Amino acid sequence: MACGNKQQQPVIQNTGPADTAYVYLTDYDTTFVLDLKYATDDNFLHRAVYPCAECKLAYETVRGLIKAQQYFRQRGYRLKLFDCYRPRSVQYKMWEILPDDRYVANPAGKGSAHNRGLAVDLTLVTDDGRELDMGTGFDHFGEEAHHDYTNLPDTVLQNRQLLKKGMEAAGFDPYPTEWWHYTYRSSHEYEPADDPLCRQHTN
Ligand SMILES: [Zn+2]
Repeated sequence: MACGNKQQQPVIQNTGPADTAYVYLTDYDTTFVLDLKYATDDNFLHRAVYPCAECKLAYETVRGLIKAQQYFRQRGYRLKLFDCYRPRSVQYKMWEILPDDRYVANPAGKGSAHNRGLAVDLTLVTDDGRELDMGTGFDHFGEEAHHDYTNLPDTVLQNRQLLKKGMEAAGFDPYPTEWWHYTYRSSHEYEPADDPLCRQHTN
């Protein structure tokens, strides 16, 4: 049906979530590989501290990750995530198990960028799911995991460089002592959050 008279077009509102809203990555993109270590006992605490295996993040972090994923998929890789948003209550639990700020951010202080939904721990996998050799595993505490440690095979250095390049281009900053940790460069102020991790939770 044609509309003959000239009417003012309505302004189309952006109806997506706010940048700072906590959302589930898989609701926006299902091409990521999830291997959420803290929902299992395969982590440095040797016990599961997450009540479910969900990757929740601030919406702006999700948008950045989708951009990074496009960069890597064009090159035959995709991102595999080990950790996303971590509720502050879990940060307390981790601190109770291991109260050592070399390994766990003290929840009484500023906490971690993971508590704000801005940080991700990740690596690259091939299209058939094989992890690229990054020289150490996730959560390896030692200088071999540092970005400035270069006494590693060329392929490892190239793999780390590829991850860093794609993540930086998508708006993330690397972390000097952990090749797997990236933080989204946000212009918003966040407080450590206690947004529930699981879709269905009991209080
Ligand atoms: Zn991290």
